[in-house]
This record gives sequence, structure tokens and C-alpha cells, in this order.
Amino acid sequence: MMQIEEILFRRMTDYRFSDAYYRVQHGFLGELKFFNLFKIAQGHLELFNININVDGYQFEVDRLIITGEAIYAFDVKHYSAPCVDESEYWRNKYSSFKSPMSQFTIMKDGLKVYVHYHQLTHRLVCKLVFISEHFYIDRKTDEILYFKDIAPLFRAMKQERVVSAFEFTIQKHLMGLHRPINYYNLRPEFNMDTLRKGIICERCAMQIDFGQSSKRLVCCEACGNAKTKEKWIRQTLTELALLLNRPFSAKEAYKWTGRSNRHITKRVLDKYFEKIDDHYILNEV
Ligand SMILES: [Zn+2]
Repeated sequence: MMQIEEILFRRMTDYRFSDAYYRVQHGFLGELKFFNLFKIAQGHLELFNININVDGYQFEVDRLIITGEAIYAFDVKHYSAPCVDESEYWRNKYSSFKSPMSQFTIMKDGLKVYVHYHQLTHRLVCKLVFISEHFYIDRKTDEILYFKDIAPLFRAMKQERVVSAFEFTIQKHLMGLHRPINYYNLRPEFNMDTLRKGIICERCAMQIDFGQSSKRLVCCEACGNAKTKEKWIRQTLTELALLLNRPFSAKEAYKWTGRSNRHITKRVLDKYFEKIDDHYILNEV
């Protein structure tokens, strides 16, 4: 989904990213920072982005860590501006938005049911992690971790017993419950006819023209991004496949990459795409 929005942004004169895009993109950066800075000890287990349903509680855990003594569930937020807690809503100097606490509570309650149902003796520790150093909330609870609170928790966690075969079973079981979130409904609406066609640099959105050049390597004149012609065409056709989200004909492909690139386009289609009847689809690699 993220990818489609980025393609549209490059190819449409006036594309505005969706709220979901900002949420996912921003959230992802936060989770990455959390993972990069705070590692688990050897002999402990972890899971990322598991989306599960326990007894009617539907929730996502950004990061779940299992030690021989405890299960830690983290919901990670990348908010940076100081906030005021107005119960159902939080407010910062830019806007008012739904409090993350309700979603966090569903995660906590769902995991409580899970631990209880499977009679686990592990301590359950659920935390809402604010990964930005600048975040502040006027009403802080024990469940909220500021950036500076993370290190002490991880230091204590690392002292805990290592896992045994039983914890591997828990990890496997949770993985089995995971259902990927279906982003299909979030597909943005757009009209293919209004998009810029041809080869577009994925770094700077500059139009690439092979011209009469017989060289294999073609550079973007704006940012210097260099690729073989084949790679430029392959990327351009992958974008077409993602945008259309259906099999497409060779004729549609030529129209997209440009008539003058017909021969190389045909070659790339045959090499990298799966052919069904007269149509091509993206090869899942
Ligand atoms: Zn470029």
C-alpha cells in the first residue's frame, strides 16, 4: 500500500498522501528506532507486528518479547509534540486526536485473557512506548514509557531467565494466531489516464529518457541514480502492475513504458513476469 501511494505521488500532479500512509510510515520509523536501540538478550524471544484476535479482542502488538519469566508487549508511538490528556482525546499544539490508550487497553485485556486461558505463569508487562525523546504527556501513568524509561526496563529484562522449549511453543502459538491486516480496502482511488507515463526516477521523480543512447547504463540527469536500461524498465513495469492490480497485456505495457522502448519491454516482461494466456502478472519472488 505504501508503495502505491509513493508511485502515485511521483506520477500525479496533485497527489495527497492518505492519513493511513502517514500513520504507517511514521509508526514504522518509530518501531525501527525502538528495535535498533534496544535489543533483547540471547536466550530471549521476540515477535513483531502480530495482529491477533483473542476472545473478541482484536489487537496488534508492535513488539512482543518472551523471557523465561515474563511476556512483554509493546505498543510503540512516534509522537513528538507534548500532549494534553483530555481522556478520550489527546491534544498537542497542532491538533486533537483519538487517545492511543483505548487501543492499548484492548491489547492489554486481550493478552491478559490469553495468559489466563493458557495458565501461563509468566508476568505480563504491557507498555505504551513513546520513542521520541521530546514527547511529554501531562498525565503520565505507569504504563507509559518515555524514551528515558526504556533502558532501565531493558536492563532489568536482560537479567531474566532464558527461555526453554515451552516459551518456543508460546512464540509459535502466537505466530499461528497472527492474521495479516488487510490493507486492500485502503487502496487509494485514482484514474490511470491522469498519471504520468514512462520511466520515472524513484528517487527524485524525474522523467527518464533513454534517447538514442546505446549505453547499457542510464543515469538520472537530476540525481545521478544509475541503472541498467533493463532495471529501469523492470521497475517501471512493476509500478504498472502494482497500480493496475490485475494482469495486463503487452500492449498496455508498451503504452506505459513508451513505444520506443518496446523491444526491451518485451524482453523484461518475458524474463521477469509470469505470462498467463496473453497477459502478464508480477512474479512473486
Ligand atoms: Zn533521479
